[in-house]
Amino acid sequence: MATTTVIDRYGVMGHPVSHSRSPVIHRLFALQTGQKMQYELLHVAPDNLETAVRQFQRTGGKGLNITVPHKRAVINLVDLISERASTAGAVNTLVFRGSEIHGDNTDGIGLLRDLDVNLDVALEGSNILILGAGGATRGIVGPLLEMQPRSLCIANRTVDKAEVIAANFERYGPISACRFDAVPVDEPYDLVINATSAGLQGETPPYPEEAISGETFCYDLSYGLSPTPFSTWARDHGAARSVMGWGMLVEQAAESFEIWRGVRPDTVPVLKQMQINA
Ligand code: NDP
Repeated sequence: MATTTVIDRYGVMGHPVSHSRSPVIHRLFALQTGQKMQYELLHVAPDNLETAVRQFQRTGGKGLNITVPHKRAVINLVDLISERASTAGAVNTLVFRGSEIHGDNTDGIGLLRDLDVNLDVALEGSNILILGAGGATRGIVGPLLEMQPRSLCIANRTVDKAEVIAANFERYGPISACRFDAVPVDEPYDLVINATSAGLQGETPPYPEEAISGETFCYDLSYGLSPTPFSTWARDHGAARSVMGWGMLVEQAAESFEIWRGVRPDTVPVLKQMQINA
């Protein structure tokens, strides 16, 4: 009698999502760890998010990554949320357990692993500026504050969103919020993180030039096959280093993979392969 093998389904939902390299990364993790699974790219507009998540669950999906711009909205669909996702107010990983949906957030730990382990960036006592106040910023602020920076400022086009995040996190450390044109520049920034999605739309917001000095490490959460607009801007304005978010992408994916499959992949060869292909 013929037997059918059902392959566990995973995927990433976003809008846009065609730029995402998550399918390649999870394929490499699955090969490396001998896991039988497939990982799909799912383009889902905001109005269709709930229908798409529930349909994926109904049709045997085991887990999802959630990306721009759904990380906050998806919270309304989860039955159980991890502490780190709840503190962040943003979810990037869903696990389907029976009829329940569990939500977690691996962005913060992914960024920290890249900065701390892969790139050896010292965070304790540093001055940090984050540009953007969307779902990704919510995920990274808590873990960054745990590293005890001297200051952390969030600048955003819509300043209210930055202010809400700063208010949520003020009990965890020295955090403030402002507009792009009001970034405090009395002291140089050690680390400037671009967490806007402007580059995805080919836009370059008026990033604050005065925030960059020859000592500044610039990190773009966005990544691309060629340098992103922010990484080019940072290099052109004299940053000490300008790095794209490949490492965070691979590290947050490894954390999601472990949550889903119970196996920790080795990120080093996968990151090398992604950067060689980039
Ligand atoms: P959201 O949609 O939640 O937030 C987008 C942010 O970008 C908002 O702060 C928005 O400002 C700002 N923005 C968008 N367009 C412009 C513009 N033209 N000028 C100024 N600001 C703009 O997205 P996420 O937070 O989920 O993701 C942000 C970026 O980080 C994306 O590019 C995503 O791909 C990347 N990312 C990378 C990861 C990695 O592993 N490397 C992980 C997570 C995210 P406003 O509030 O004013 O609308």
